[in-house]
Amino acid sequence: MRILVVEDETKVAQALKEGLEAEHYEVVIAKTGEEGFFYAHAEVFDLVVLDLMLPGRDGIEVLTTLRRRGLQTPVLILTAKDAIEDRVLGLDSGADDYLIKPFAFPELLARIRALLRRGRTDQVLRLKAGDLEMDLVTRKVTRGHQVLNLTAREFELLEYLLRHQNQLVSREMLTRDVWKEPSRATPLDNVIDVHIARLRKKVDQDFAIKLIHTVRGVGFILREGEP
Ligand code: CA
Repeated sequence: MRILVVEDETKVAQALKEGLEAEHYEVVIAKTGEEGFFYAHAEVFDLVVLDLMLPGRDGIEVLTTLRRRGLQTPVLILTAKDAIEDRVLGLDSGADDYLIKPFAFPELLARIRALLRRGRTDQVLRLKAGDLEMDLVTRKVTRGHQVLNLTAREFELLEYLLRHQNQLVSREMLTRDVWKEPSRATPLDNVIDVHIARLRKKVDQDFAIKLIHTVRGVGFILREGEP
């Protein structure tokens, strides 16, 4: 995880860098608004920690311009103790969270973790195919307005099919990646077929459009409509 820290005070910047690196984050420091703007544009970061009180181009200006240009990276702003207007302005300008200086380092870490989690939730932790949706955080699976109650194994199986949707999934792949059996010493074909049948009943039985299809002699494919 890469974090860009935009902070002009050398001591604070250095303390942040050391503290974050101790938590295994990769840290790049920018000491002016211009430099921060340049880095945020030129490189890819998972998060930006942005001090609002910067010489020259201040934090709000940097943030507003970055957001206007479409940057979606989460931004945590650092603001002075009683600058309430700054906080409001910061959030209005597209910051995701703020922290008031001086702050306790564990608090900063907690906020950073929360923002990184949130970022990932929006992007990756939800799988979809047609009206079928799987939330990997809450482990809730829905099709249309209907909640599907899956066993742990069915969930894993469906997750695998969703991650490989529109691709042929063989029984060998399921044996290796879902059942985690390295060899085919004990053929699992019957076990797999039984689980697929149960899963298909839950996913497809009540719906006109079928999602899980058997490709005879080869395996399975998850897609909208016949393969
Ligand atoms: Ca400052």
